[in-house]
Amino acid sequence: MPIYEYYCGKCSLLFEVSKPIIKYDSEEKCRMCGQTSKRMISSEVGISVKGESSHKTVDQVVGEDAAKRWQQYHDRKSEKDKIRAKSGSGALVKKPDGSYAAAPKEIVEHRNKIGEQFATALSEHRVDREKKGIPASDTMKPEE
Ligand SMILES: [Zn+2]
Repeated sequence: MPIYEYYCGKCSLLFEVSKPIIKYDSEEKCRMCGQTSKRMISSEVGISVKGESSHKTVDQVVGEDAAKRWQQYHDRKSEKDKIRAKSGSGALVKKPDGSYAAAPKEIVEHRNKIGEQFATALSEHRVDREKKGIPASDTMKPEE
């Protein structure tokens, strides 16, 4: 069966479909986003004046998406680092609009209290294990 090329106008994916000649003009769903895509006529296939294709393969689209996500992760991290440096506190809260702010004093205190409670529970747990002759462990695994 001949192979036809399709181009998705929504996510710019270029994909190939092998199908009978009789169905050559039927539309296909984009492999990435499901958008109904039109078959490309041969003159449209990856041709541009600069000799660089404006169409993208699956790998290119996936790669660009990964790069974008990685960039977002870095932007968020540097935003958080900036706020931490400015407030002098490591504790942050996420605001409803998705940005970060230094955590209010009550929240910091609350978190510290939970941390203390956990540390106390952990040390009590260790003492208890020691009493029973079970070797100390850094984890709170259930006793055998
Ligand atoms: Zn698509």
